[in-house]
Amino acid sequence: MILTITMNPSIDISYPLEAFKLDTVNRVKNVRKTAGGKGLNVTRILKQLDTEVVASGLIGGALGEEIKKDLDRNGIAHDFLPISGETRNCIAILHEGQQTEILESGPVVSAQEAEAFLKHFEKLAAQAEIISISGSLPEGLPVDFYRQMMQVCHGKPVVLDCSGEALAEVLKGDVKPSLIKPNAEELAGLLGRSISTNVDDLKNTLSDAMFSGIEWIVVSLGSAGAFAKHQDKFYRVTIPKIAVVNPVGSGDATVAGLTAAIAEAWSAEAILKQGNVLGMLNAQEATTGQVELANYQALFDQIQVEEV
Ligand code: ATP
Repeated sequence: MILTITMNPSIDISYPLEAFKLDTVNRVKNVRKTAGGKGLNVTRILKQLDTEVVASGLIGGALGEEIKKDLDRNGIAHDFLPISGETRNCIAILHEGQQTEILESGPVVSAQEAEAFLKHFEKLAAQAEIISISGSLPEGLPVDFYRQMMQVCHGKPVVLDCSGEALAEVLKGDVKPSLIKPNAEELAGLLGRSISTNVDDLKNTLSDAMFSGIEWIVVSLGSAGAFAKHQDKFYRVTIPKIAVVNPVGSGDATVAGLTAAIAEAWSAEAILKQGNVLGMLNAQEATTGQVELANYQALFDQIQVEEV
């Protein structure tokens, strides 16, 4: 099975408004509430790909129960560790073609809960074929928590999609993830400098000693596709132009596509194609983490992967 980890999940609430008025009352009808957080977006795509997936992480309180119910309704297996804090709400106000987000920081995790989760994770990791870890760490967990998780995952392949200090800490550790998927902004943040996305510059950037020992680095570039390093080879992924509805969560869909393809030991080219197809399919839908697989093959066939 594929194990997905979401350490700070949320109930994602979307409020579609014709106009967003400040300092007065806004009434909203078509409220949508779904289980969210990057790891759960990955989970939903993996489920649609028909893989055997188990979602884990930390949940608490009434909203934690709502997350479990949402996953049950969607037939998604889960094994979260309950904590005493309350799982958070994240609100997206959709107005005039814009999206204003209000994101709660979420519960503060205690040292005992952190220790209990490491044990819980160690047990689940033993049963997993591959592990996909996405998103930020909740408050209370040390910045090297993902590095600690890497140390107890029994050498299973880990696809890690996080940024900033949490990622920098993992890269310093001796147990490396199999794949990281920064976007250009996250890559620049990691290196502490601006980056250029031309081929030679990206080849240089991804050859930085910081990334040594990582089998796959996939830099997602939105509508410009992706650039990847696999072992000592570099690939440019060129994608066709598509009609985009909502690209939020396309990175998570890409992570799901890459993870499922790696689990099935596909070729480097096919792994990259599947990752990009899922990102594009997500961008073509209004709902994050929902894809129309009928369009999969047509997109797959139009993607070019060239070694550069
Ligand atoms: P998020 O944080 O919203 O999940 P991200 O920044 O991590 O996104 P992106 O690089 O935006 O990830 O998108 C991942 C992949 O999805 C891209 O590599 C591409 O294949 C596809 N994609 C995203 N946006 C577009 C777009 N506007 N047009 C076509 N494909 C897109």
